[in-house]
Amino acid sequence: MVLLLLFGLLDYPALGMSVELGILAGLRLATVAALLVLALKLKRKPSLASDGYAVTAIEIFGFVLFFFLYFIRHDIVSWVIGVAAMMILSLYVFIPNRVYLSTATAAFGISGMMYSVWLNGFGAAELTGLFFILGLPTVVGFFFTLRLQAGQRQQYALYQQVTSINRNLQNEIKRREALEEELKRQATTDPLTGLFNRRQYEMLFNRERERCSRQHKYICLCVADLDHFKRINDTYGHDIGDLALRHTADLFSNLLRQSDVVGRFGGEEFVLILPDTDLEQAVAVISRLRQELEITPLPSAAGDIKLTATFGVTQVFTGDETIEAVIKRADQGLYEGKGAGRNRVMTA
Ligand code: GH3
Ligand code: MG
Ligand code: MG
Repeated sequence: MVLLLLFGLLDYPALGMSVELGILAGLRLATVAALLVLALKLKRKPSLASDGYAVTAIEIFGFVLFFFLYFIRHDIVSWVIGVAAMMILSLYVFIPNRVYLSTATAAFGISGMMYSVWLNGFGAAELTGLFFILGLPTVVGFFFTLRLQAGQRQQYALYQQVTSINRNLQNEIKRREALEEELKRQATTDPLTGLFNRRQYEMLFNRERERCSRQHKYICLCVADLDHFKRINDTYGHDIGDLALRHTADLFSNLLRQSDVVGRFGGEEFVLILPDTDLEQAVAVISRLRQELEITPLPSAAGDIKLTATFGVTQVFTGDETIEAVIKRADQGLYEGKGAGRNRVMTA
C-alpha cells in the first residue's frame, strides 16, 4: 500500500494535472482500498489469506493498473516490468498452497503485459525479452512451490505417523497398567470374597507386626468361623452359601478400620489382623463384629438367613515365631467357643 502510494507521488511531476493522472490515482486508490479491506478482514477470517482467492483478485486488479501504466507512464516502463516480475514471484511466496491459482494469475499478468507492450508499438525482440523476464519468476516460483509443498506433505505425513505411534503407545501403556493391576489383584485376593488370600495376609501380618514392634504397639489376630455353615449349604444350596460368605466378608471389611487386614483363611473361616490394638480393644472390636453379623441376616428369596460366627482372639507376642503359631493359639479360643455353644468371642 505504501509503495503504491509513494509511486503515485511520482505520477504528478510526470503527468501534471490531467485525465491520465486521475485514472492512475483512481486505480492506485482502489487497489490500496482493496488491500486495506483485506488486511482488516484477515484478523477475523484468516482463511481469506490461506484460500488465496482474495489475494489473487487483488493481484489481478493490480495487474490491470500496471497495464494502464504502459500507456500513460512511458517514462517508467522498465521499472514497471521489474515490479511486475516481483509481483509474480510474490504470488508464489505468499500463497504457496495455491500453486495453480498463482500460475493462472501470472499467466494473466504476463499476457496482459505483453499485449499492452505490443499495443505500444514494441517489436518482437522486446516482446521476447519481456516474456523471458516475466516467465523466469513464474517458472522459478512454480517449481519452488511444488517442492515446498512436497516437503510440507512429507513433514505432515511424518507428523501424523508420530502422533499415531504415540497414541498407540499411550493406549498400550494404559492397557498394560490395567493388566498389571488386575494381575496384582488376582494374585493377592480370594476370587469369591475379594478378601486377601493367605499369601497376602501373611505378608501384611509380617509387615504390620514388625512396624508395631518398632513402635512398641500391640497387634492382635482373630480367627472367625461361621457357625453351622454346613447347614446353610445343605438347606439353601451352595450358591446361597457362597453369597453368605461374601456377605460376611463385606460386613467385616466395612466394620473394621482401613488399616486392619481381613483375609480368607479357608472355607468359611476368616483371619482378622488388628494392628495398633491390645487384647482388650481387640475383644471390644470383635464383639461388635459378632453382634453386627448376628443382627444383619443375609436376605434371600427363601427369606432372611441368620448368620453367626465364633471368634478366637489372641495377642501377638515376641515369642511367636510365625503367623501359624499365632493362628494356632487363636484357633484354640475358637474351638473353645464352639464347644461353649458358638456365636461368641473367646480369647486365647
Ligand atoms: P461349625 O459351627 O462347627 O463351624 O459348623 P460348620 O458346619 O460351619 O462346620 P464344618 O467345618 O463342618 O463345615 C464347613 C462347611 O463350609 C463345609 C463346606 O461345605 C462349607 N464351605 C467351605 N467352603 C465353602 C465355599 O467356598 N462355599 C460354600 N458355599 N461353602 C463352603
Ligand atoms: Mg470351619
Ligand atoms: Mg463353621
